[in-house]
Amino acid sequence: MEKTDILSMNKEELTAYIVSLGEPKFRAAQIWGWLLKGADFSEMKNLPAALRTKLAENAFVATAKIVRKLVSKDGTIKYLYEMHDGEKIESVLMRYKHGNTICISTEAGCPMGCAFCASTLKGLSRRLLPSEMLSQIISTQKDTGERVDGIVLMGIGEPLDNYDNVLKFLRLVGSPDGLNIGYRHISLSTCGLVDRIGKLAEENLAITLSISLHAADDETRSSLMPVNKKWNIEQLLTACRAYFEKTGRRISFEYTLVRGKNDTVKDANKLADVLYKYCSGMPLHVNLIPVNNVVERGFLPSEKSGIEAFASTLEGRRITATVRRTLGSDIDASCGQLRAEHGI
Ligand code: SF4
Repeated sequence: MEKTDILSMNKEELTAYIVSLGEPKFRAAQIWGWLLKGADFSEMKNLPAALRTKLAENAFVATAKIVRKLVSKDGTIKYLYEMHDGEKIESVLMRYKHGNTICISTEAGCPMGCAFCASTLKGLSRRLLPSEMLSQIISTQKDTGERVDGIVLMGIGEPLDNYDNVLKFLRLVGSPDGLNIGYRHISLSTCGLVDRIGKLAEENLAITLSISLHAADDETRSSLMPVNKKWNIEQLLTACRAYFEKTGRRISFEYTLVRGKNDTVKDANKLADVLYKYCSGMPLHVNLIPVNNVVERGFLPSEKSGIEAFASTLEGRRITATVRRTLGSDIDASCGQLRAEHGI
């Protein structure tokens, strides 16, 4: 018999489930409190032993077990977690003055094949459950004793490829009954699944959408991101405009700078041109990310002077550009590197 995934339930679903086991409703509130602390059934000491046994026989609590932890000089912590079936995923906790933000994984591996990314080297193993996304936050809070204030869905996996589970996770994590992390502190990054961007716009969630653009012409983007062969830049930016018009929410554009590939002043002007062509009237913000060395791909980060020239060209075209601070650079904190190091 397949066991019930109890951490993927909201409070009402959990209450109905506990009642279906022949238990009084108030037990659900007790269990809910324990789940948010990362407790297993055996640790739920205010439950009768018979109920703990019944739960262990019928249900499971998803856990993200820490198998490796790297702490950077700047306070960033990178975790390699093992899931119940042995799959390994990563999270990164970043500490800012305004609070702690965690970057979580939504899939074990990734099917999208972006050329600069270590997470996709062996394709997709499987999609994560809502509970497995939550458990990355719960485990991190338990390990550090600190609250997580913000989330970015930018770790291993394409969040919109695991749409239903990611949506359930977002509703759980934003619930005042749950971890209560405000949607305004949650950012979802996608490589550009245009049909799902349209669907997301209908969900009425005040999250920030972040688009991995990485090139301003289809030829370059298709060589970096296979998804561009399905949905090109025009289709993607048109979907972004529709998303903005529907939700009123700012969209940020991610642009990884790869030396000799997409990092010249000419490329910066081309980027400004396409953004104005399809997204004029929207607040335009570009996050510039020096590419990480992915040895298997042979990509090199741009020179510092080239990054500055790229950023100032965008600023000169009245597009806000931020060069992403490389937190945790001493611990290989970028997506998929730790997992890849472990031969996965
Ligand atoms: S960048 Fe994101 S979408 Fe692309 S392969 Fe890596 S994890 Fe997947």
